[in-house]
Amino acid sequence: MNYTNSPIQKITFNNQKYFVKRDDLLNPDFSGNKARKFYYYLINDFPNIKKIVSFGSAQSNAMYSLSVLCKLKGLKFDYYVDHIASYLKENPLGNYKYALENKMNIIENELPTYFDEETLFISEGGALKEASLGIEILANEIKTWAIENKIENLKIFLPSGTGTTALYLQKYLPFEVLTCACVGDEDYLKKQFLVLEKDNHPTIIQREKKYHFGKLYKEFYEIHKELKKQTNIEFDFLYDNLGWICFEKYRNSLNDKNNIFLYIHQGGLIGNISMLERYKFKYDK
Ligand SMILES: *Cc1c(COP(=O)(O)O)cnc(C)c1O
Repeated sequence: MNYTNSPIQKITFNNQKYFVKRDDLLNPDFSGNKARKFYYYLINDFPNIKKIVSFGSAQSNAMYSLSVLCKLKGLKFDYYVDHIASYLKENPLGNYKYALENKMNIIENELPTYFDEETLFISEGGALKEASLGIEILANEIKTWAIENKIENLKIFLPSGTGTTALYLQKYLPFEVLTCACVGDEDYLKKQFLVLEKDNHPTIIQREKKYHFGKLYKEFYEIHKELKKQTNIEFDFLYDNLGWICFEKYRNSLNDKNNIFLYIHQGGLIGNISMLERYKFKYDK
């Protein structure tokens, strides 16, 4: 099974050259940055643990990845949500559908305040210290590639939710790591960084305007289709569209033409199934 060492591919987008780290290709079931963040739990044994508990949204990529992890490790999986939309209950799809097929026990209720010692609690979106193990491996893959290709002036970009992946990449890489806030705003992201590390934070690129996570924007749909057309790569809807808007603008604002740019594709493509339906309904009818 291939849970590490994804390929790096050269692409041209709007007449600019970029490299893309294809973490979406790691493993069909356990891929993207959740595979990196939960790698610690995949490779270690927890003989006293019978169940994993987490919480978040009913369409989350982390939820699906945890359901895969629990299936691989023979653990039970309780997942707490505030609310499951009735259309989703009636027509399960995307992360929700596949997590249920992996025997996720989804609970619409508040998270318990106490867990017994056979339960392992994983915070929302995998924002935890243990995530650093898998992200260090990702950083080492990038370092090896840069050395082999004699690249010194590398800039790395990836969009953030909790910021955990960007933060640990910066910790383990000698190159500048840039990111943008997709879930909260820039202040939220800075606070998230501080929870895990005091300093050496990634550079946050300011967004042109405020976007709300999970909402539909015409410019997101357009850049998604354009990326697909020009690079033949499918990127995720929730993070990558805003990510590419920020990254492209940042790149075009640099006068220095000597840098090499690497974008990290963090997977999340199962979540696209429901997003694509919503986009088609809103903009293609
Ligand atoms: C979870 C996720 C992110 C955000 O990762 P953080 O480490 O929380 O910043 C970005 N892209 C995709 C596709 C994800 O699934």
